Amino acid sequence: MEDDDLLRYSRHILLEEFGIDGQARVSAGHALVIGAGGLGSPVAMYLAGAGVGHITLVDDDEVDLTNLQRQIAHTAARVGQAKVRSAATAMGDLNPTIRVETHVRRADAPLLEELVPQAQVVIDCSDNFATRQLVNQACVRHGRPLVAGAAIRFDGQLSVYDTRDEASPCYACVFPADAHFEETRCAVLGVFAPVVGTIGVLQAGEALKLLAGIGEPLAGRLLMFDGRTASFDTLRVARDPGCPVCGNRHHGNAHS
Ligand SMILES: [Zn+2]
Repeated sequence: MEDDDLLRYSRHILLEEFGIDGQARVSAGHALVIGAGGLGSPVAMYLAGAGVGHITLVDDDEVDLTNLQRQIAHTAARVGQAKVRSAATAMGDLNPTIRVETHVRRADAPLLEELVPQAQVVIDCSDNFATRQLVNQACVRHGRPLVAGAAIRFDGQLSVYDTRDEASPCYACVFPADAHFEETRCAVLGVFAPVVGTIGVLQAGEALKLLAGIGEPLAGRLLMFDGRTASFDTLRVARDPGCPVCGNRHHGNAHS
């Protein structure tokens, strides 16, 4: 590791559990971030600051004035730009030593099939149920850990779904694809900006822990945050043996 890197990452390297080995793993790591909005902004910035060596960003949307209240990677001057390009600019300003790969595309099944196996950790920062299911399916198929977050109004939640662990549920075990519920969007119901920040920062933390190989991931636990009362609750979540996505686990190239 070069001197500049030792300085840049010194506050992580100083952590006993993290150390120089943890930083080396983070620097050699590849994270896939789906969505460059309210959750994706803090995720992208924290992963860039921490020096994740290769970060792939996927989002087909452009920066809009209504985004700036909470999507902190973007600026007023970049309204109208592709969100992934705007976020890549912010990440490059923060840490020019990392590689940021951008895809101005919707995270559809073919793109996920291409990108998920290349990454070591996948962070779902998308804003809709259909995309979350597709991301989960690709993560299960390729044996990649998924850090999934969501936020609406004053409520946020996150968990880690890591089907490399036999006991860990996948996203669809907890939120079945055929469940009937009304999709709620920030554009309709609003969202308290610090709630997306809180969940995004926690997602970045889980991703960094997975890359560095430290701590205890949030697998098997669903963390819920209530921004009205500033309270956290943790719910145990179990694997569904009948889950159509992960019920019959075969990890084609889990070790590739
Ligand atoms: Zn499942």
